[in-house]
Amino acid sequence: MEHIMKNMFQSLGKSRTANRLAKKYGLRFGAARFVAGETTQQSIEAVRGLNQDGRVATLDHLGEFVFSEEEALESAAMCIQTLDAIASSGVKSNLSLKMTSLGLDISRELCVNNMKRILDRARQHGNFVRIDMEDYAHCQISLDIYRELRQEYDNVGIVIQAYLFRTMQDIDDLHAFGANLRLVKGAYKESPQVAFPEKSAVDENYKKIIQKHLLNGHYTAIASHDEAIIHFTKEFVSSNRISIEQFEFQMLYGICEDLQKQLVKEGYRVRVYVPYGVDWFGYFMRRLAERPANVWFVLKNMFK
Ligand SMILES: Cc1cc2nc3c(=O)[nH]c(=O)nc-3n(C[C@H](O)[C@H](O)[C@H](O)COP(=O)(O)OP(=O)(O)OC[C@H]3O[C@@H](n4cnc5c(N)ncnc54)[C@H](O)[C@@H]3O)c2cc1C
Repeated sequence: MEHIMKNMFQSLGKSRTANRLAKKYGLRFGAARFVAGETTQQSIEAVRGLNQDGRVATLDHLGEFVFSEEEALESAAMCIQTLDAIASSGVKSNLSLKMTSLGLDISRELCVNNMKRILDRARQHGNFVRIDMEDYAHCQISLDIYRELRQEYDNVGIVIQAYLFRTMQDIDDLHAFGANLRLVKGAYKESPQVAFPEKSAVDENYKKIIQKHLLNGHYTAIASHDEAIIHFTKEFVSSNRISIEQFEFQMLYGICEDLQKQLVKEGYRVRVYVPYGVDWFGYFMRRLAERPANVWFVLKNMFK
């Protein structure tokens, strides 16, 4: 049953019609638990709230399904606007983005030019930009573009997904680039030809890449709500004398709030991923797919 629901949410998240309808009707069905709002101002207020108890953030202006150059330019402009809003408000946040929303599926050149404009602005503000990792079809090209950008910019990082077979090799290849990586389990529906189907294998690989990247000496964001993974990381950094400055924990807005606050109290850096914008539906469906138990929460909100 859980498997069926997972597939259903993953497919709905990719449906253009469902996304278009959701955009038209605004944040509904309890999506506001996971999405900070539809406007930049609302997202800045959400970050301010997180900063008050010591959490930092990464803001993501949600945007999926970009099919024209105009849409890609608009999306890049929103990223730049978000960086400006972070700087002028003084909140502690960097930026996360998806390269498909910057035109990756239209042309590589368009996407790279948009990335460069965003990274230039981030550099002016002394800020950092993280490239989210999308589905497997975009993995190789995303890493290639990251390597190209890394030659010119030191304020850019990317994400590596533990569920892919190729991941350990990618960690090795990125060593020479001194990559600042966010390590995650992986959120997309992938075929067993490219990704571990069993959760236990993903968890094992996750632990291996956390160890490897930390021991390689590079900045590592461990982005997970899994208490076993968090506990494992704490033990590993302590027994290997890895500085608290070399890593951070990351979690999603609205998920495991108590754990986020507890980690801050223990002295760890905690960054919350704060998505916002009118294109909230695909993101919301991925969160439901991860945890079909959230559906009860949705149902309750539908009848409120
Ligand atoms: C900051 C951040 C950035 C991310 N960026 C990317 C990215 O760029 N690309 C990508 O593919 N994936 C990304 N992800 C998603 C990630 O790949 C996983 O799908 C997601 O984090 C769930 O895995 P988990 O490590 O929390 O462990 P799981 O084993 O899935 O969950 C562990 C526990 O966490 C809690 N939990 C997990 N998910 C939810 C939820 N949706 N609702 C409520 N509770 C939940 C539950 O208590 C669950 O038992 C990101 C995740 C985070 C935290």
